[in-house]
Amino acid sequence: ACSVRFDDVHFGYDPRRAVLKGLSFEAEAGKKTAIVGPSGAGKSTIARLIFRFYDVTQGAITIGGTDIRDVTQDSVRRNLGVVPQDTVLFNDTISYNISYPRPEATKDEIERAAQMAQIHEFVSRLPDGYETLVGERGLKLSGGEKQRVAIARTIIKNPPILILDEATSALDSETEAEILTSLNALASGRTSIVIAHRLSTIIDADKIVVVDGGVVAEEGTHEELLGK
Ligand code: ADP
Ligand code: ADP
Repeated sequence: ACSVRFDDVHFGYDPRRAVLKGLSFEAEAGKKTAIVGPSGAGKSTIARLIFRFYDVTQGAITIGGTDIRDVTQDSVRRNLGVVPQDTVLFNDTISYNISYPRPEATKDEIERAAQMAQIHEFVSRLPDGYETLVGERGLKLSGGEKQRVAIARTIIKNPPILILDEATSALDSETEAEILTSLNALASGRTSIVIAHRLSTIIDADKIVVVDGGVVAEEGTHEELLGK
C-alpha cells in the first residue's frame, strides 16, 4: 500500500496568485482521508497535483516515499483510480465500459465488479444513444447508474490509491446514500482520498483534513473536529 504525502506544497495556476501556500498532510496507506473546505479552497487542485496534471512550485508530493516528479506521469497514474462526478461512457456494452482499464479482465472478474457496484443486472446492455444496425436501443442510465459503471471500472483497474472528488455531488441524496455503499466497498483496503464539501459523505473517514486559505486549517478524526 502507498501513502500520499504533501510536504509544504505551494502552487498557483497563475504564478502571481497562489492557491496552495505551504500545504502539508499525509493520506496514510490503506486508510481513508477526507479533504474538506469551502468552495475555491483548492481541493480539486490537490487532486490534479496528485495526478501530476501540474507540478508544484515549491515543496513535494510523495507517493509511497517517492517524489512524483522522479517517475513518469504514466507510472503515477497507473496507481490512481478515480470516480469522477460525471462519467462518460463509451458507445459499447456496459461490460466493455467496465473492463476498459484492463481489457484482459475475465468475465468472472467483470461480473464480480458489477456485483460490488450493484449494476449486475445490466452488464450486457448498451449505453444510451447507442443503436445497433438491427435497431437494438441502448439503455438510458441515470447519473447514479453511470457512477456505478465508473465504480465497477475502477474495481477492475484495482489501483492502490483512490481519489474521489465530490463523486456523488451530482446525485440526489437518496441515490447518493445507495452509491456510498458501493463506494465504500471500492475504497476498502486502498489509500483513499475523498474530497467533499458535505461532511455527510465522509462520515467514516479515518482522518479529516480541513483546507482553507491554501493551507491545512485543522485535521483530526470526526470526533476530534466536532469536539472543538
Ligand atoms: P475547490 O475544489 O476547493 O472548490 P479548486 O481547486 O477547484 O477549489 O480551485 C482553487 C482556486 O483555483 C480557485 O480560486 C479557482 O478559481 C482556481 N482555479 C481552479 N482551476 C483553475 C484553472 N484551471 N486555472 C486557473 N485557476 C483555477
Ligand atoms: P488511463 O485510465 O487509461 O490510465 P489516464 O492516464 O488519462 O487514463 O488517467 C489515469 C486516471 O486518471 C484514470 O483513472 C482516469 O479516470 C483519471 N483521470 C483522467 N482525467 C482526470 C481528471 N481530469 N481529473 C481527475 N482524474 C482524471
